[in-house]
Amino acid sequence: MKARYQYRIYPTTGQQQSLAQLFGCVRVVFNDALAFSKQSGKYPGVNRLSARLTQAKKTDERSWLSDVSSVPLQQALQDLNVAYRNLFKSIKGKRKGAKVNPPRFKQKTNQQSARFTKAAFKLKDSKIYLAKIGELKTKWSRPLPSEPSSVTVIKDCAGRYFVSFVVEIQPINVEPKNQGVGVDLGLETFATLSTGEKVKAPNTNALDRKIRKGKRQWARSVKGSRGRERLRMAIARTEAKQSEIRKDFNQKLATRLVRENSIVVLEDLNVSGMVKNRCLARAISRAGWRQLRTLCEAKASLIHEREVSIISRWEPTSQICSGCGERWGKLDLSIRSVVCPNCGTEHDRDVNASINILAAGQADLNGQTLSRVRPQFGAVACLSTRQEAR
Ligand SMILES: [Zn+2]
Repeated sequence: MKARYQYRIYPTTGQQQSLAQLFGCVRVVFNDALAFSKQSGKYPGVNRLSARLTQAKKTDERSWLSDVSSVPLQQALQDLNVAYRNLFKSIKGKRKGAKVNPPRFKQKTNQQSARFTKAAFKLKDSKIYLAKIGELKTKWSRPLPSEPSSVTVIKDCAGRYFVSFVVEIQPINVEPKNQGVGVDLGLETFATLSTGEKVKAPNTNALDRKIRKGKRQWARSVKGSRGRERLRMAIARTEAKQSEIRKDFNQKLATRLVRENSIVVLEDLNVSGMVKNRCLARAISRAGWRQLRTLCEAKASLIHEREVSIISRWEPTSQICSGCGERWGKLDLSIRSVVCPNCGTEHDRDVNASINILAAGQADLNGQTLSRVRPQFGAVACLSTRQEAR
């Protein structure tokens, strides 16, 4: 199984210049090929684009492309090729997941990257050598599990440099503590587990205010000025910090959920649909529910006998008593606790939902639906306020 291992690097000033030149060349090759493909009306294929690149290097306007290693330039064409293949598969409905957008032009202000394959990099005694760049000072935060097949050099928007390796890894054996866990995701409490545990997300409101303030200043700054560029970098650094706090939190939560439980059940929340609701947009995007799901799925594949089950967002998990199966109907978001009119148990809204999520996920794995597992009741009790529930 393939995994990515990323490390921070500290290139010298000279190497930073060489990398800037390389990133520029990669961007130009990619954008040239994309522009040509768009003009042609039909994607010409990687061989044709590669032949055009060879031709371009012989012209005066593009002769400087020969100053950098040719491997990352070829890889840029490969990236475009993959982007087009994914697009075609998506159009034909042969690709799972969301619809793929056509490839877009690379911009100078976005994250920059260049990929080296085996022929153009060397890894010896934990030292990385890149063709025409040289040896890189690397912070080895953890050992590489195996020989990498490629390395990507990245400069992020905040001006930091990284190398990212693709390595082959073997799944490990860990005994799960529990059968399964259901996770209810929310805004106030990030995750409520079917064990009754409530997990709060780290508070990054201060950083968020800083970003918004910075963006207002940036909007007022003079276009093309040095101050504007400085502001852009400062905003990017704060944004990077914020997203890393989130990611670290999600990584740790996902690791714990997957390690301790044989099945992790999550709800398929329609995040892109919810973000359209503007007042909730900021909080939801930041909450990173999607990221938690992706991380759980990735981590589950690294451990033997782990399952991540995603249940439909139409499953009425907050409308059913997790004890007896009584269905009380839709509840207003402000109602935090419910007393079941059938069995009299008082439930915390989110814990009740997470227990139902777990049940639905387990039923799903057994090929049943929730309604078939739970007893059915004729009348639907619709309790719109907490008082009525009592
Ligand atoms: Zn009940």
